[in-house]
Amino acid sequence: MANPEVMVADITTLDVDAIVNAANSSLMGGGGVDGAIHRAAGPELLEACRPLGGCPTGEARMTPGFALPAKWVIHAVGPVWRGGKSGEAQLLRSAYRASFRLAREHGVKTIAFPAISTGVYAYPKDAAAAIAVDEMRAHADAFDRIIACCFSEADADGYRRHLEPAAP
Ligand code: ADP
Repeated sequence: MANPEVMVADITTLDVDAIVNAANSSLMGGGGVDGAIHRAAGPELLEACRPLGGCPTGEARMTPGFALPAKWVIHAVGPVWRGGKSGEAQLLRSAYRASFRLAREHGVKTIAFPAISTGVYAYPKDAAAAIAVDEMRAHADAFDRIIACCFSEADADGYRRHLEPAAP
């Protein structure tokens, strides 16, 4: 049983079974956390992604972690924020669910997520954290650790607010 943990860290440094990448649908690398993961994993990661032929928004694909401490990388494609009426919430939830499904299928017990879609894809951070925490709680019983890996203290505080028990 893994109650979601919030951590401020560079996700590429985490020693977990799987880290999740906020990938784009080409799966051919990009900026932000995607670029950091590809740099840390080494060029083999791109070679492993190439034959996958991309990934639709709301889905995920899995590769080895190569030079990363993590054994696996789960490449999840979140939505670009277009104002909120283009199915963004459903697609973001779907990206988390697809990641958890792949993780379970591969026996992953410890997993770390970045704040998918909240960088270049401009999804409002608070709304994204609400969905992330909701899905993490829904999958807690199948994992030993579920980490929300934030890049700033401000982002971490946003997650912590959603993790606090509701006021009586
Ligand atoms: P997207 O295109 O899905 O918006 P980004 O990589 O632009 O993806 O941003 C997603 C989130 O990842 C942002 O909150 C950003 O601050 C964070 N981030 C960027 N680099 C790292 C990293 N090395 N470790 C953890 N989080 C990161």
